[in-house]
Amino acid sequence: MDQQVLTDVLRQEIREGKIPLSLGKTCPVECTFCYEKDHSYRPTVDVPRTTEQQWHTILEEIKKVPTRPDHSWLLGGNEYMEWTDIFLHPRAMDWLEEFLETTDNKVTFFTVGFVQPERIHKLAERHPGRINFELSVITLGEHRNKLLPHGPTVRQLMKILDGPAVTSANFYSFGPNSMSEDAKTISRINKNCLLWMGCLTPLKYIDADTSALMRHGRKHLADEARKVYYADLPNTQMLHTEPYISTFLARNKILKTFDASELEKNDHVVVSGCVYRILKKLRPNRVHYLYVPNETLGGDSDCSTLLTFSDIAKRLAHETQVYIPKVIMEHASGQERDISGVTFDEFKSWFPRIRFRVLHKVNTQVSNKKLYEKGYLKNYVEDYLGNPLHQKIEAVALPN
Ligand code: SF4
Repeated sequence: MDQQVLTDVLRQEIREGKIPLSLGKTCPVECTFCYEKDHSYRPTVDVPRTTEQQWHTILEEIKKVPTRPDHSWLLGGNEYMEWTDIFLHPRAMDWLEEFLETTDNKVTFFTVGFVQPERIHKLAERHPGRINFELSVITLGEHRNKLLPHGPTVRQLMKILDGPAVTSANFYSFGPNSMSEDAKTISRINKNCLLWMGCLTPLKYIDADTSALMRHGRKHLADEARKVYYADLPNTQMLHTEPYISTFLARNKILKTFDASELEKNDHVVVSGCVYRILKKLRPNRVHYLYVPNETLGGDSDCSTLLTFSDIAKRLAHETQVYIPKVIMEHASGQERDISGVTFDEFKSWFPRIRFRVLHKVNTQVSNKKLYEKGYLKNYVEDYLGNPLHQKIEAVALPN
């Protein structure tokens, strides 16, 4: 591989807050739900397996960046490189340790469980408050082998959970007594880690059986969530993987932001499906709502943040002025780019007759804030399941 290309990619990942380690191959865990199965929508580079020498260069580059107390470095490049479970690299634990010993930075990592339990617990004890460890449990139940054919064993996960290292454990509903049983099991072992629950979303390249299982899980989400709610577990419990739930819980903020946006009746506003339903029901005829499906990701995805300019382009016809939420183009590089790498300027050049304006108040900071503020399982059970308004909103038909 061209050394200059490699250096540029590693530097870009570092600039965006990543520690760009690479396994040098496609992830061997082959999870059937993996959202990296098809990342053709964004350009990536096949970065070779990280060597000792490269690691030292990466670490030196990171040390040049001033420490920000609110910033946490993400272990593994994931924007211009393929996502993987980086703990499959035999040196990943050593390098994580070196990072913690030789810098004063925080670190975040996700893994399906390939860390060495004793070592990671010792590191967490030695560096309190600096490790944000998100353990992707996915499920401990009967579907585990099918979903993670080469994943770690349940026994391995139990050892990782049993100690101070894990900050949050994510796992999902796949039918009756799946998510709720996992919540109870995990809580028995670790009362401090955050329980992050919900459903996995089928995207267009996920196989039919896995997609059916995800949808089956969604059908049982309400029952599963109620069982967790009534189990009265001591852990913090969050549920925010489903946009129709998140937007419903944040509806007052959505309406307030929309009302403050000074839009004219003839303006067209780009909205995802779940936002379309809320505004159409609660602010009918206020503007023209331009519903844009997430065609790039496909499947059941319905999320403003993950819309692309090419998704929007497919829905444009004779509009003269179109408002686009800022959240679509807030790329980590600081450029106005969507998740597929298309810039706002490029997009505007496709439609010279249309005037595009940005809804600046609909941004990542606001949506993440609301997601976390409202994303507790308790809110889902009390304010969503307990409120018949959500059924009326979800009954609103989406335009063709
Ligand atoms: S371990 Fe992570 S990156 Fe690898 S296949 Fe599974 S979900 Fe994808």
